[in-house]
Amino acid sequence: MSCAVMTPPVLAAPPAPTLRAHGQGRPCVITRRATFSASHRYWLPELSPEENASRFGPCSLAPGHGHNYELIVAMGGGLDGDGMVLNLSDVKHAIRREVTGQLDFRFLNEVWPDFDLERPGGRLPTTEALVLAIWQRLAPHLPLMGLRLYETSTLWADVLDDSMEAFLTIRSHFAAAHRLARPELSQDENEAIYGKCARPHGHGHNYLLDVTVRGRIDARTGMVADLAVLQQLVEDLVVEPFDHTFLNKDVAHFGQCVPTAENIALHIADLLQAPIASTGASLHKVRLQESPNNAAEVFAEAPLLGMRPLALDALAAV
Ligand SMILES: [Zn+2]
Ligand SMILES: [Zn+2]
Repeated sequence: MSCAVMTPPVLAAPPAPTLRAHGQGRPCVITRRATFSASHRYWLPELSPEENASRFGPCSLAPGHGHNYELIVAMGGGLDGDGMVLNLSDVKHAIRREVTGQLDFRFLNEVWPDFDLERPGGRLPTTEALVLAIWQRLAPHLPLMGLRLYETSTLWADVLDDSMEAFLTIRSHFAAAHRLARPELSQDENEAIYGKCARPHGHGHNYLLDVTVRGRIDARTGMVADLAVLQQLVEDLVVEPFDHTFLNKDVAHFGQCVPTAENIALHIADLLQAPIASTGASLHKVRLQESPNNAAEVFAEAPLLGMRPLALDALAAV
């Protein structure tokens, strides 16, 4: 599918505006951010110490380690007579009462029964298991559209409902040079299309690569995919072969295909799709940020989701 022409996203037309006071009745999505710090440990009592160490690496070390978590809560609904979906003060108190007040400065394995590993139904407090547990506590109180939980700036999980399905994203980085030019065109023609990017000796970027997988949260490990395996796949198939290269010459695919951000993202999706499928999860999205000013996103589950993120489907259903 490299160099393929993608059709633009088709978004539902917004409803005709009404002239009610304060927008009353019109739908809107709002978000609220909250933070907490907590510790956890990945240790399954049914495994030997050696098995725990080999499966979970440093995450298995006693007594555990901690993260500064960041939670994004998206909520949707019609505006009330005051011009609000919800009173943000109520939202803040609900999040504090149900989530951050219970988790902040706590050991996750002990604070909620979801993560009591001595129970048969207990699961490891992974990012995706934690965001699902948060959904289950907030859903009775807030009109949730989606939740995102950042464990670090390079690892986060999203849930869009209370099924066991979650999206897990890992962020990687590589530096590479490229030149945008089609070999069959003259230099003048290429500069007319690609501007400075067609200059003959190339230029470079620090690329940020976000790989999102979708899958079912395992009832015991709390994972949609083995995180270490996922990180190793991205490292072996993309970061190592792309980092500190001149893409046009050092990555065979780009000998024929102009390495625009779009084409690099598509190629990365092609490289990762089958190997990620072998982990039990599905490659959902590749986002490649070339600079602070531009990024390309490829939704790899086409035609199931096409260019429309699942979140937008949920939003459109309000
Ligand atoms: Zn951790
Ligand atoms: Zn460039």
